[in-house]
Amino acid sequence: MLNFLKQVGDYAKESVQAAKYIGQGLSVTFDHMRRRPVTVQYPYEKIIPSERYRGRIHFEFDKCISCEVCVRVCPINLPVVDWEFDKASKKKTLNHYSIDFGVCIFCGNCVEYCPTNCLSMTEEYEMAAYDRHELNYDNVAMGRLPYKVTQDPMVTPLREYGYLPKGVTDPHDLPAGSRRAGKLPQEILEEAESAASGADN
Ligand code: SF4
Ligand code: SF4
Repeated sequence: MLNFLKQVGDYAKESVQAAKYIGQGLSVTFDHMRRRPVTVQYPYEKIIPSERYRGRIHFEFDKCISCEVCVRVCPINLPVVDWEFDKASKKKTLNHYSIDFGVCIFCGNCVEYCPTNCLSMTEEYEMAAYDRHELNYDNVAMGRLPYKVTQDPMVTPLREYGYLPKGVTDPHDLPAGSRRAGKLPQEILEEAESAASGADN
């Protein structure tokens, strides 16, 4: 009899535990039903990269003075600056410039320190290639400007979560002109400048 009661007790205990675990599992499921989907219908829909996204580097050949600062500040000395000295003008003449984006870590040091601002980060992130050597971009490939997600007629651009209006969690069918939650960078800058000028007066 005691053995039977013990079995019933164990069974009841296990049933309660099983119900608890099912409840925990379902609570995760129901919690996700209230969240926005994190996936988009790529490549028909694409997330708009953030303002400071560090994508493929753009290069302006005419602005480069072959100073090689970009090479020295690069953690892996990656940019290849092929120049020769022109005795007549006593200046360096740039022949070729290249960066291997299969090796680049997109740290942005070269962009930050280039004295003539001929390097800039773009929002291009689709650089998949079958051959890694195709990722070694020369100055012609780097001189190409990327297709912006917002200007591509084949793509529906979607805002990332941090760029949605307050209280909105679905980036689809946003009313035109709806602004994101919080202050814009230029507004923060203007406030800081007016606060600084107020402190000076
Ligand atoms: S730092 Fe700028 S100007 Fe100097 S070699 Fe590099 S890309 Fe050219
Ligand atoms: S982004 Fe960084 S790793 Fe890539 S070339 Fe520039 S300095 Fe080098």
